[in-house]
Amino acid sequence: MTSRTGSAPRIDLHAHSTASDGTLTPAELVGAAFHAGLDVLAITDHDTTAGWAPAVGALPPGLRLIRGAELSCRWSGAQPAVPLHLLAYLFDPDHPELVAELARVRAAREERGERMVGLLQADGIDVNWPDILAGAGGGTVGRPHIAQALIRAGLVDSVREAFGPDWLGERYRLPKEDIDVFRAVRLVREAGGVPVFAHPRATRRGRVVPDELIAELAAAGLAGLETDHEDHSPAEREHVRALAAELGLLVTGSSDFHGTHKTVQLGAFSTSVEAYERIVAEGVTEVASG
Ligand code: AMP
Ligand code: FE
Ligand code: FE
Ligand code: ZN
Repeated sequence: MTSRTGSAPRIDLHAHSTASDGTLTPAELVGAAFHAGLDVLAITDHDTTAGWAPAVGALPPGLRLIRGAELSCRWSGAQPAVPLHLLAYLFDPDHPELVAELARVRAAREERGERMVGLLQADGIDVNWPDILAGAGGGTVGRPHIAQALIRAGLVDSVREAFGPDWLGERYRLPKEDIDVFRAVRLVREAGGVPVFAHPRATRRGRVVPDELIAELAAAGLAGLETDHEDHSPAEREHVRALAAELGLLVTGSSDFHGTHKTVQLGAFSTSVEAYERIVAEGVTEVASG
């Protein structure tokens, strides 16, 4: 694989658009990836493929696009269940069971968002659901959209503060109705896709799953582990890298770009050509080229 710039290829396999909780439209996202000098971008909105077509339609020359999604999952081996994220690449977006599951999760996110707003209102906090839903612009709704409402109302100064324990991090956080992670891995494979566990050791986000679970997921069809991610400390990255080597899983590095909803920039972390080629070889959907 040759890079656009003559240096090592830059491959960023995790980014969000306005189809979920990013702030750039899918078309703007691929434009920004081009200007950031990336060779490959994956669009991985939460629980939706709605950004695929507009991203492909706007793909600049020389940029390749991996079509993907980030599935909201849970592991029920602990009490309460541990929420986790599964990246899914190059799957058939029309696979009926997967389509139905994603629609169910998106609908449940709306109910959950409305209930979280109800909790805030019950404490006299001036936010309202129609505005938040409008702020999501038809994309998959999540806490970042509620965070923006708290900022608009002058209740917090930053997204970081909105995700603190007094707000959406704990006090007003409700669990999502997500997909059992074994079922998700199986569904993604059935749909011809390549499942990669997103930020599996991000202890700063909350509880993480034990290595034994990751070994079981590998046996169930998991393809890889996202290793280089801003939410992993250097020690956590090394741990994940060693575990992947032990289990024969590929490793990825990605920005998890969310536009101005987060500070991280496109291309902040990158994936090797070898891992990219393995994903492409295993996926049923073609890589799109501009
Ligand atoms: P939800 O899917 O509704 O539970 O919201 C989770 C989303 O919130 C993640 O995908 C991130 O985009 C964002 N998020 C989670 N924690 C933080 C944080 N500490 N700061 C900023 N954004 C966060
Ligand atoms: Fe997000
Ligand atoms: Fe994630
Ligand atoms: Zn993400």
